[in-house]
Amino acid sequence: MNKNRPIQTSTSRTEKSNQNSLLKLMLWTAYIPFPNSWVKFLITKCTPIRKLLRKKLFLIFCGGETLKESQENLSHLRKKGWKIMIDYAVEAEADEKAFEKSYHEVRNAIQTAKPDPSIVFTVIKPSSLGSTILMTKYQNKISLSPTEQNKLLAFEKRLNKLCVEAKQANISLMVDAEEYTFQGYVDQVVQGLIKTFNQKTSTVYTTLQCYRKDSISRLHALYKYIQTHSCHLGLKLVRGAYMEEERKKAQQENYPDPIHENRIDCDNAYQEGLLFCLQHIDKISLCVATHNQQTCMQLIQEIDQIGIPHDHPHLCFAQLYGMADPLSDELCEKGFSVHKYVPYGPIEKVLPYLYRRLRENSSMREQIQQEGYSQA
Ligand SMILES: Cc1cc2nc3c(=O)[nH]c(=O)nc-3n(C[C@H](O)[C@H](O)[C@H](O)COP(=O)(O)OP(=O)(O)OC[C@H]3O[C@@H](n4cnc5c(N)ncnc54)[C@H](O)[C@@H]3O)c2cc1C
Repeated sequence: MNKNRPIQTSTSRTEKSNQNSLLKLMLWTAYIPFPNSWVKFLITKCTPIRKLLRKKLFLIFCGGETLKESQENLSHLRKKGWKIMIDYAVEAEADEKAFEKSYHEVRNAIQTAKPDPSIVFTVIKPSSLGSTILMTKYQNKISLSPTEQNKLLAFEKRLNKLCVEAKQANISLMVDAEEYTFQGYVDQVVQGLIKTFNQKTSTVYTTLQCYRKDSISRLHALYKYIQTHSCHLGLKLVRGAYMEEERKKAQQENYPDPIHENRIDCDNAYQEGLLFCLQHIDKISLCVATHNQQTCMQLIQEIDQIGIPHDHPHLCFAQLYGMADPLSDELCEKGFSVHKYVPYGPIEKVLPYLYRRLRENSSMREQIQQEGYSQA
């Protein structure tokens, strides 16, 4: 069975109609920046809805609800020769207890990855480890109370301890990029970790979103930084996942839109960023994270022109679980290291991730809107 396609299982007319309505509701709410509490409530309280959502959406884009379940579901990835990046995909947590729980989850993920040669990376979402409200305050130079300062310090300590664990386990830690309002603070913290932990190889990877107008100047600054501190840069390059939310927030809060005005500028920045990394591949370990076939094929031409071997240890491609499998196959056949980003976590906690995937995945949108879920 192809896991990447929604599966038809319903029998009765009423059941089918209910499924249709739920998935349309999900699709509709995917255009609301944050999952509404109503959907969260339904998932938590109503078992049939939870089951349906789990089967039709969650298991297509996520490995499972726990690390253990996720591990059990991934043998088909290993058979393909793809590597795995484990991602505890919970984000925007609210209190210290939840941040500690996320810390222990990532710690567990590192320990699970340690003996497994197919897992080279574990992923961190900074907003799962610390308060984005405080990070935003810090970034905006709003003074913090001593308690708030301690909370930010606790976030930095969690991140630091995870780097120590990752280094000892010989695993790389991929720090995701999130929203503009607190990304500056995260970048500053991660830059410090790069200096400490990337002296010889890249234990810490940072992420650069090329849909941001300042992405190329930031890349140059990062490169200068690693030259100054004689360390190595681990870098995941993405286009960026929060475009609509960012534009809306900039308008609402009355600051300049940080995102490129159009697609072409974003594509040019992505291309320029990738090329820069290839030209400095001795000092930069690059993870090309995209589902765009044309971008990848163009990049391969550049790689061949420069003469970088496809299996260069500083180069890898990554796609998200449940997306762009044919591209992952093609890249793997060409001899590149290919990673699948495998998110896991309780369904109600990974909703923001699922919504983003639903918005991006046009083929799935069409399937939901078409006969697959219409009444017989
Ligand atoms: C392995 C992996 C890890 C990822 N990690 C992160 C992460 O840490 N942080 C993060 O933010 N995202 C992350 N993403 C998501 C990524 O940023 C993109 O949202 C997603 O991959 C789609 O971009 P693409 O290059 O694959 O596809 P494409 O379809 O080629 O590009 C779509 C993207 O182009 C950009 N775009 C489209 N229209 C416009 C416009 N009018 N103006 C400006 N830009 C435009 C947007 O960024 C949009 O998402 C990750 C993706 C992958 C595959």
